[in-house]
Amino acid sequence: MRNGAEIRRLGIMGGTFDPIHHGHLVAASEVQHHFQLDEVVFVPTGRPWQKADREVSDPEDRYLMTVIATASNPRFSVSRVDIDRPGPTYTLDTLRDIAALYGPDVELYFITGADALAQILSWRNAEEMFKIAHFVGCTRPGHVLKDPGLPEGKVSLIEIPALAISSSECRQRVAAGEPIWYLVPDGIVQYINKRHLYRRKQG
Ligand code: ATP
Ligand code: MG
Repeated sequence: MRNGAEIRRLGIMGGTFDPIHHGHLVAASEVQHHFQLDEVVFVPTGRPWQKADREVSDPEDRYLMTVIATASNPRFSVSRVDIDRPGPTYTLDTLRDIAALYGPDVELYFITGADALAQILSWRNAEEMFKIAHFVGCTRPGHVLKDPGLPEGKVSLIEIPALAISSSECRQRVAAGEPIWYLVPDGIVQYINKRHLYRRKQG
């Protein structure tokens, strides 16, 4: 660290990652490049409050899949802060925990899909979150970005190469016996088979 003044740029990619897929990985890679981030930390959620209605896979399975999918990228890492914190996951807690772990000399960039970004104003403590992090909204096919009236200078929108992949579709494909090769990394196809994930029909 030069004169104690070097600021590290840290991306935070929160998600259920049930399973992690190439849409997540391309989005993280694009944002890393665009903002010249030193590191992107993937943070699998504990119990996501938005998804309380559906059965979410075991956090350890989602954590391990995230580790497997990100292992080959030297700028990607995975944090357990959300899965180790009891109770539902709130993004403000994620930001505070990561900020505390990495210390004062970091700029935080919270990476989120356009769908989730549109809900940001409805999140608990939105103003508080904008004080801690810059928000990066990724557009993907099928999601039209409306200006939700977000605070000036606190949000960037970035176009991700067309990747109409979602975890829901991957789960549905596995349940229907359809292939997910090339939608997710090879190691994830193998992990899902090994652990018999998504065999039962779920939403
Ligand atoms: P589900 O279908 O279960 O909602 P998902 O594919 O949206 O899952 P999440 O784990 O909910 O995956 O997403 C984590 C983050 O990644 C969210 O901010 C989401 O908007 C974003 N994201 C998901 N899929 C893509 C994609 N194909 N391209 C860019 N961003 C994505
Ligand atoms: Mg989603």
